[in-house]
Amino acid sequence: MHVAVIGAGLAGVCSAFELASAGHQVTVIDRHAGVAAAGSFANGGLLAGSYTAAWQAPGLPTRWLAPMSAGGWGMQAWRPSVWAPWWRQRQHRRSPSWAAGRTALLALSRLSRARLDELTHRLGLEREHADGLLVLLRGERELAPLRAGLDWLAEQGVPCHCLDAQGARAVEPGLSTEHPLHAALHFPGDAAANSRQFVHQLKNEAQSLGVRWLFQHELTGVSGHGPLQLSLAEVRDPAQSTRSAEPLDSLTADALVLCAAQGAPTLLQTLGVRMPAVVHSACSFTAPLRLADGLMDLTPRAAILDQRQQVSIARQGDRVRVAGGWRSAEAMGRPRKADMQRLYRVLDDWFPGAAHTSRSLEWCGPRLSVADGLPVIGPSGVPGVWINTAHGASGWTLACGAALLLTALIGQQATPVDAAPFAIERLR
Ligand SMILES: Cc1cc2nc3c(=O)[nH]c(=O)nc-3n(C[C@H](O)[C@H](O)[C@H](O)COP(=O)(O)OP(=O)(O)OC[C@H]3O[C@@H](n4cnc5c(N)ncnc54)[C@H](O)[C@@H]3O)c2cc1C
Repeated sequence: MHVAVIGAGLAGVCSAFELASAGHQVTVIDRHAGVAAAGSFANGGLLAGSYTAAWQAPGLPTRWLAPMSAGGWGMQAWRPSVWAPWWRQRQHRRSPSWAAGRTALLALSRLSRARLDELTHRLGLEREHADGLLVLLRGERELAPLRAGLDWLAEQGVPCHCLDAQGARAVEPGLSTEHPLHAALHFPGDAAANSRQFVHQLKNEAQSLGVRWLFQHELTGVSGHGPLQLSLAEVRDPAQSTRSAEPLDSLTADALVLCAAQGAPTLLQTLGVRMPAVVHSACSFTAPLRLADGLMDLTPRAAILDQRQQVSIARQGDRVRVAGGWRSAEAMGRPRKADMQRLYRVLDDWFPGAAHTSRSLEWCGPRLSVADGLPVIGPSGVPGVWINTAHGASGWTLACGAALLLTALIGQQATPVDAAPFAIERLR
């Protein structure tokens, strides 16, 4: 079967690789000139399946949900257009299907991690991996809303250790002693890794399986039934005067997979499918670490999350990636000075002087989420059209598992995890 995948971010590249591994002929189409050029460009790097499942525990008070989920800071976050989906999420938390969703999320993140580890070892990929996530709690009030989720994680057999400040500094010796630390949660099963490095290497592996890449092309319409007729438009990069190949204006495919993130709701709408979703932007910076020979390494070792600020700090080889903040889509584009200053401040609170921040690379990217915070994976309802998108803040954590699930569904095989909680029907 010829499958066209729209989007060459984490979701699209992983899907293309798995579909080609299952024997399908695959073409990936993206409006950018290469892979991981949009929301997957410089994410926080956390593989945080355990933490995410705990954090999504039912019963979080509204006063926590609103600022954390809808914006963290900045007036943009309080616009009703941004708020409304999260209010629906709050309502959804009361339903029994939400508990099933959390179980499914944990199962998908475990599957994803197992597949990521397996691919990394089998294909000999580099990904600047470091084990463990330390969640820093500045006060008792941050721990209380997490307790129900932590109890649930313990029932699932997921390791998580509650540490005092001394215990936390044993895990991360570079943590500043100047800054008051109430306690920390250590998730040894979570990790930090460089998703961009992984996705570029997986692209090469997919190519060797026969995957074809059609960059600087945009999907503009779909017609017909098995085979589908895809209408394409060339996207010219003003910086490039020459084209590598003749542009295509159409393509025939037996199936279409939308891994288009913020482009997906519009594409689905043209097919008569409603997927209510919200786009937020978040930002990051990456800076070289100060690694002095012969001195004790006081730089971050693995993944750290400041729970109050919702800012992550992750080691990526000899660099640090600091990420966080949610703003509405209107604020997309260049990173805002105030948002970046907040990231620098959090790094300075916990690891003062650990990085050459004057040489940092700043970035701001989009994240697409639906109301219940789970991804949308499965058939769209239109024959031949499939979805793997809306990974929100967990696209790296879930990418490899989501691609496996999608491939099993398309191949009409037994699915490795329960697919029902990810179906688009739940949003209708
Ligand atoms: C600052 C930040 C920090 C993050 N931190 C983490 C983290 O620590 N851990 C984690 O797990 N996740 C994290 N995430 C989330 C994660 O990065 C995303 O969920 C993931 O990258 C989304 O991948 P994607 O492939 O779905 O989307 P994208 O990477 O955005 O790819 C979608 C692609 O579709 C293409 N496209 C759209 N419409 C069309 C069309 N009509 N025709 C052709 N092409 C089209 C776009 O050009 C784009 O390249 C973070 C995100 C951000 C922004």
